[in-house]
Amino acid sequence: MMEVREEIDIQRRPSAGAMLQLIRHGHATTRADLAEQTGFGRSTVAQHVTALLAHKLLVEDAGPSSGGRPVTLLTFNTSAGVALAADLGATHSRVAVSDLAGSVLAETTADLEITLGPDEVLEWVNDRFEELLARAGRRPDEVRGIGIGVPGPIDFAAGCAVVPPIMPGWDGVPLPAYFADRYDAPVLVDNDVNIMALGEYFTNWRDRTEHLLFVKVGTGIGCGIVAGGRIYRGADGAAGDVGHIRVASDREVVCSCGNVNCLEAIAGGQAMARQLAEAGHHAEVSRDVVQLVRQGNVQAVQVVRQAGRVLGEVLASLVNFFNPAAIIIGGDVADADEQLLAGVREVIYSRSLPLATRHLRIARSALEDRAGVTGAAVLAIESALAPAVIDRAIADQAASA
Ligand SMILES: [Zn+2]
Repeated sequence: MMEVREEIDIQRRPSAGAMLQLIRHGHATTRADLAEQTGFGRSTVAQHVTALLAHKLLVEDAGPSSGGRPVTLLTFNTSAGVALAADLGATHSRVAVSDLAGSVLAETTADLEITLGPDEVLEWVNDRFEELLARAGRRPDEVRGIGIGVPGPIDFAAGCAVVPPIMPGWDGVPLPAYFADRYDAPVLVDNDVNIMALGEYFTNWRDRTEHLLFVKVGTGIGCGIVAGGRIYRGADGAAGDVGHIRVASDREVVCSCGNVNCLEAIAGGQAMARQLAEAGHHAEVSRDVVQLVRQGNVQAVQVVRQAGRVLGEVLASLVNFFNPAAIIIGGDVADADEQLLAGVREVIYSRSLPLATRHLRIARSALEDRAGVTGAAVLAIESALAPAVIDRAIADQAASA
């Protein structure tokens, strides 16, 4: 349950920022906990806690007395600033202001075509940020971080999309630059599936595991990988691109990438819509598939269940390779009902090795369409409150005092 990596980091460098992280992540609630977990003396711990209290990052409350002296509980002050979060989809976007725990204070959604290009879309995002800050009663100078998810491959360090297939005009445009003179806060950009994985992990799974896969089944299929408690991006940021793994099929289907029988060409939302249209139903996009399933259309239920089995074939291999503790299935088709998940479960448990599935949990996304915006907020918060950032802020103020 304890995050071992965090423990090791903190033993190497027991700073105020590291102690704040132990409290924020629920590993410590008292000065005694901090002393125990860092191995440092009470006076060193007290000195760092005093600095965090002075910076209003912690608050202290008298806890329940345990027989002898009353215990003072240390809690993270989640209102010591806000995060701005945007989950930009191909045709639909959600924007929010959250507190520093990632809880949404104000949010809005809109149908917005990502193909309008960065100037128009980012101006829209910025207008919404300003409106939502006002609605939440917070000021721009309280913004500590900005997180943005986009539906395409991302150069994470540069904060820009890289040859994104469905985002004409966005290639190489650095998104942080757009917000740099508006907010004195870091701007983090990642792809839509990674932020969903992060949102689900931080909200529902962090206490249980450090290793999970989040699979989004929408128009296409993508996967976010949480390894060792962090998003794993790979050498070039392309990790998790499972949609173009080749699957077995009794017919040849050409994928948007030009290859044949890719997972998403057989089992993605668009592919399901096409199969249902061929059978005479009104279905153009994945939302139509969802609609038909909700109406109890037998053929639609069968198509979704079969897509789940095909997805399960690929995931069974990934389970053997990666040994995740959980696989979370999200995206509009998964959010709609249990059929997709049932197909996935059926295949994974029969194909994967027993050792890899002994503790494996397979679940639908509990955050549903809020997974992305929650993850974007978490991405911003974890960057803005990283131990090194907090230590620098405390040192800077001490130097100027
Ligand atoms: Zn493909």
